[in-house]
Amino acid sequence: MFQQARRKLSAICCLTMAGIVLIILLCCLHISEKNMYGQEKALFFLQANAISSDLQDSENISIEWYLRSIGNAQNALSLEIDGIPSILTSVTLPQEQQELLQRLKDAPGQIIHIPSAGTDSAKLEEAFGEYKERNGRFLVMHTRFFVQEHEISATYLYSLGRFQQDVRRQRICFFAIWLVSILALYLFSYAFTSHVLKPLIQNDEKQKHFIAFASHELRSPLAVFKTGLSLLKNSPAADASGRIFSLLDKEMSRMERLIQDLLCLVKMEQADLHFQFQPVCLTDLLQSVYEKYAPLAAEKQICLRCCIPTLPPLQAKEDTACACDPQRMEQAVTILLDNALSYTPAGQEIALRLFGQRGKWCIQVMDTGIGIPDGEKKKIFDRFYRADPSRSQKEHFGLGLSIAKEICAAHGGKISVSDTAGGGSTFTICLPKGTD
Ligand code: ADP
Repeated sequence: MFQQARRKLSAICCLTMAGIVLIILLCCLHISEKNMYGQEKALFFLQANAISSDLQDSENISIEWYLRSIGNAQNALSLEIDGIPSILTSVTLPQEQQELLQRLKDAPGQIIHIPSAGTDSAKLEEAFGEYKERNGRFLVMHTRFFVQEHEISATYLYSLGRFQQDVRRQRICFFAIWLVSILALYLFSYAFTSHVLKPLIQNDEKQKHFIAFASHELRSPLAVFKTGLSLLKNSPAADASGRIFSLLDKEMSRMERLIQDLLCLVKMEQADLHFQFQPVCLTDLLQSVYEKYAPLAAEKQICLRCCIPTLPPLQAKEDTACACDPQRMEQAVTILLDNALSYTPAGQEIALRLFGQRGKWCIQVMDTGIGIPDGEKKKIFDRFYRADPSRSQKEHFGLGLSIAKEICAAHGGKISVSDTAGGGSTFTICLPKGTD
């Protein structure tokens, strides 16, 4: 699905940019061609004016002058003196050029007029234009004037062949640049869309894992229910049913807890879980958690210590006040304490601490239990991750720490884990100080 979306997005992105590049290239091409044409026209006017002024001084006219004036072999010059074609034209000019002059004479309507600086008053007629035919494009000058009572008429054809060749070469060059840019743009678009889609792909992977794990975890209690119910149906003996009911009750609680955890995570993800932020005295909060867990710790023969600032009650209340949702923060601390009690063997100890540090309040749950390998420390905050499933207990789904992490993030805080000196794990929740 993402592969297809990536290809489509890359193509759309590439085509859009290729379109923009094409428009820019066409504009550049148009400007460049206009400049080139302007240069050719300037050259033509220069040559045409030189011919015209040389003709007015008829002493200059010779074969050498004629050949020099024509310049390029593709140009042509026709001269008529008193209406009679000059011998220079018929003798010097190749047949092809002579035919060209004839065609031009036969179709004067095909000349597109070009405005010029103005006609010399000594001349009877002077016109400039552009003539197009299948052999090429030409700039044309036609002039007529009197020199020593002789009427001289001249038609000069200036070939735009070289200009057309340059234009063609330039167009091919621009087209090649455009093709190469399409390839470069496609590669860029592909890398760009891959970068843009990366978080979506990762999110999708996470979602898939989440659903797979959730369905797996929900399937096992259902299997227990099914077996229990079929046992009850087949042998409804009083002693067996008691055990089965207690097993079903246990599985039911397990399933309830899992569903609660899942709902909590989903709600937090959709920002649907509303936090009731208020000034909370952290010493009171930790004291209450400690009191709830002290009996369980004693039952497990674990020494649970509560190390919170020993300030006079009122001062402690004011000094350790923090803006948080008391229920959610208690849930986060409970998760850490619950884990510590689960992964700490009898005879060991757990400490619940509170201390201030550079504008932050830090709540710590330190245990001297089994500890967490370095490679696992980052992963344990992922959903459904259990460092070693064989060591984890059945009531643990691997969701606790991800819930605690989301709660801390919603409070603008952070949760981290490190090793306890001498063995075990220390979880630290850091919250910003202040009650705003
Ligand atoms: P679980 O419900 O499985 O405890 P958590 O998200 O709370 O899920 O914890 C994830 C994993 O982190 C646990 O499976 C366990 O392997 C490891 N873990 C968490 N707390 C501790 C601890 N105090 N000591 C050792 N391992 C721990």
